Amino acid sequence: MTEIATATKVEEKLFQNRYLVDAGKPHIRVREHEVPSASLLAMTRLCPAGCYAVTETGQVEVAADGCLECGTCRILTRKTGEVEWNYPRGGFGVLYKFG
Ligand code: SF4
Repeated sequence: MTEIATATKVEEKLFQNRYLVDAGKPHIRVREHEVPSASLLAMTRLCPAGCYAVTETGQVEVAADGCLECGTCRILTRKTGEVEWNYPRGGFGVLYKFG
Protein backbone atom coordinates (compact mmCIF):
# COMPACT_ATOMS: atom_id res chain seq x y z
CA MET A 1 0.00 0.00 0.00
CA THR A 2 1.35 3.43 -0.97
CA GLU A 3 1.71 6.01 1.74
CA ILE A 4 0.22 9.39 0.89
CA ALA A 5 2.16 12.38 2.15
CA THR A 6 0.15 14.75 4.27
CA ALA A 7 0.14 18.22 2.75
CA THR A 8 1.00 21.06 5.08
CA LYS A 9 -1.18 24.11 4.77
CA VAL A 10 0.45 27.45 4.01
CA GLU A 11 -1.02 28.90 7.20
CA GLU A 12 0.72 26.20 9.24
CA LYS A 13 4.04 26.98 7.58
CA LEU A 14 3.62 30.71 8.12
CA PHE A 15 2.86 30.05 11.78
CA GLN A 16 6.43 28.75 12.17
CA ASN A 17 7.83 32.21 11.44
CA ARG A 18 8.31 34.78 14.16
CA TYR A 19 8.10 38.51 13.85
CA LEU A 20 9.88 41.14 15.87
CA VAL A 21 7.88 44.37 15.79
CA ASP A 22 9.81 47.64 15.61
CA ALA A 23 7.27 49.59 17.65
CA GLY A 24 6.37 52.93 16.15
CA LYS A 25 8.62 52.44 13.12
CA PRO A 26 6.70 50.47 10.49
CA HIS A 27 8.86 49.68 7.47
CA ILE A 28 5.89 50.02 5.10
CA ARG A 29 3.51 52.95 4.91
CA VAL A 30 0.62 53.74 2.62
CA ARG A 31 0.74 57.36 1.57
CA GLU A 32 -2.36 59.50 2.02
CA HIS A 33 -4.88 59.00 -0.72
CA GLU A 34 -8.57 59.60 -1.31
CA VAL A 35 -9.25 56.73 -3.69
CA PRO A 36 -6.83 53.81 -3.91
CA SER A 37 -5.52 52.77 -7.29
CA ALA A 38 -6.45 49.34 -8.59
CA SER A 39 -2.93 48.19 -7.76
CA LEU A 40 -3.16 49.31 -4.15
CA LEU A 41 -6.62 47.86 -3.78
CA ALA A 42 -5.36 44.55 -5.17
CA MET A 43 -2.94 44.30 -2.26
CA THR A 44 -5.87 43.54 0.04
CA ARG A 45 -6.15 40.25 -1.84
CA LEU A 46 -2.54 39.62 -2.89
CA CYS A 47 -0.46 40.21 0.22
CA PRO A 48 0.44 36.72 1.46
CA ALA A 49 0.52 37.92 5.05
CA GLY A 50 -2.81 39.76 4.89
CA CYS A 51 -1.25 43.08 5.89
CA TYR A 52 -3.52 45.25 3.73
CA ALA A 53 -7.13 46.13 4.47
CA VAL A 54 -9.77 48.60 3.30
CA THR A 55 -11.03 51.07 5.88
CA GLU A 56 -14.67 52.02 6.35
CA THR A 57 -14.01 55.18 4.32
CA GLY A 58 -12.57 53.27 1.37
CA GLN A 59 -8.87 53.93 1.83
CA VAL A 60 -6.31 51.14 1.98
CA GLU A 61 -4.18 50.77 5.08
CA VAL A 62 -1.29 48.50 5.95
CA ALA A 63 -0.32 46.86 9.22
CA ALA A 64 3.24 45.81 8.56
CA ASP A 65 3.43 43.44 11.54
CA GLY A 66 3.75 39.97 10.07
CA CYS A 67 5.06 41.20 6.72
CA LEU A 68 7.10 38.54 4.96
CA GLU A 69 9.20 41.09 3.04
CA CYS A 70 8.25 39.48 -0.25
CA GLY A 71 8.16 42.87 -2.00
CA THR A 72 4.92 42.27 -3.90
CA CYS A 73 3.36 45.52 -2.71
CA ARG A 74 6.55 47.42 -3.47
CA ILE A 75 6.59 46.22 -7.05
CA LEU A 76 2.87 46.44 -7.70
CA THR A 77 2.57 50.05 -6.50
CA ARG A 78 5.90 51.23 -7.90
CA LYS A 79 4.24 53.31 -10.62
CA THR A 80 1.59 54.87 -8.39
CA GLY A 81 3.98 55.67 -5.53
CA GLU A 82 1.27 54.95 -2.97
CA VAL A 83 3.45 52.72 -0.83
CA GLU A 84 6.62 53.76 0.94
CA TRP A 85 8.64 50.58 1.39
CA ASN A 86 11.86 49.96 3.28
CA TYR A 87 13.44 46.93 4.83
CA PRO A 88 12.97 46.74 8.60
CA ARG A 89 15.86 47.90 10.74
CA GLY A 90 18.43 45.25 11.56
CA GLY A 91 17.15 42.69 14.05
CA PHE A 92 13.49 43.50 13.38
CA GLY A 93 10.91 42.06 11.04
CA VAL A 94 10.28 38.50 10.03
CA LEU A 95 12.39 35.69 11.46
CA TYR A 96 12.12 32.71 9.14
CA LYS A 97 12.30 29.24 10.57
CA PHE A 98 13.32 26.36 8.40
CA GLY A 99 12.80 22.65 8.86
S1 SF4 B 1 6.15 42.94 1.30
FE1 SF4 B 1 4.81 41.17 0.86
S2 SF4 B 1 4.17 40.40 2.85
FE2 SF4 B 1 4.97 42.46 3.18
S3 SF4 B 1 3.19 43.80 3.11
FE3 SF4 B 1 4.07 43.75 1.02
S4 SF4 B 1 2.95 42.09 -0.02
FE4 SF4 B 1 2.59 41.85 2.17
